[in-house]
Amino acid sequence: MIAVISDIHSNAEALSAVLDAISSAEVDELYVLGDIVGYGADPDAVVTTVASIERATVLAGNHDLAATGRFDARWFNDHARAAIEWTASSMTAGTASTLAALEPRGQGACGLCVHGSVVDPAAEYVVNADDADASFASEDFERCFFGHTHLPTAFVRDAGGVVTGFALHDGQRFTIPEGHRAMLNPGSVGQPRDGDPRASYMLYEPSDASATVRRVAYDVPAAQAKIRAAGLPEILADRLAAGR
Ligand code: ZN
Repeated sequence: MIAVISDIHSNAEALSAVLDAISSAEVDELYVLGDIVGYGADPDAVVTTVASIERATVLAGNHDLAATGRFDARWFNDHARAAIEWTASSMTAGTASTLAALEPRGQGACGLCVHGSVVDPAAEYVVNADDADASFASEDFERCFFGHTHLPTAFVRDAGGVVTGFALHDGQRFTIPEGHRAMLNPGSVGQPRDGDPRASYMLYEPSDASATVRRVAYDVPAAQAKIRAAGLPEILADRLAAGR
């Protein structure tokens, strides 16, 4: 079994709830698909925790790249940019050097791992079947795990090249049909955007090609209080309660 997490966004409360939940599953390998920091108020704690996970494939997302001067924050909206500037100026040198060593693409035993898309691992959003089709066409992978959209989703491509997308809900087991290629997104740990404020993660079982998204409640008020105390934009605290 593989556990897949993404878009933690400096939310230590959400990460700890997810890691607690995963610890009861028999996980051989863990994929962390980037955006470890940004938006939230706990970059050092979250990066330290992620770096301590054994058997992990860890990627950088566009926020991690921006926090370490490798992605132009000019492309971010105002509150995202404010959070990156705060992160870059407040994180420790150790956090910065851990993030600086990460790339937005990697290879796990069960598939290709990217933050955004196969076409542009750092920044492209795979939201619909057309976006997924471009990634399927760009390389001959069988399985790809991706993040960035904060939406738990699956895209499958049949032998004839038809791509179909699915939204994945808590506890739903999605089995990739035989002979299909697939792109799987676990949703976001630290800033869900599908209207469900609970942290999201995915368990993938390679023996039967099944993916199950799970949602876990965490201490939202504690994460919000830290965001407000850090002086980060209010919207970054508010949206955690709405899951938007
Ligand atoms: Zn993100």
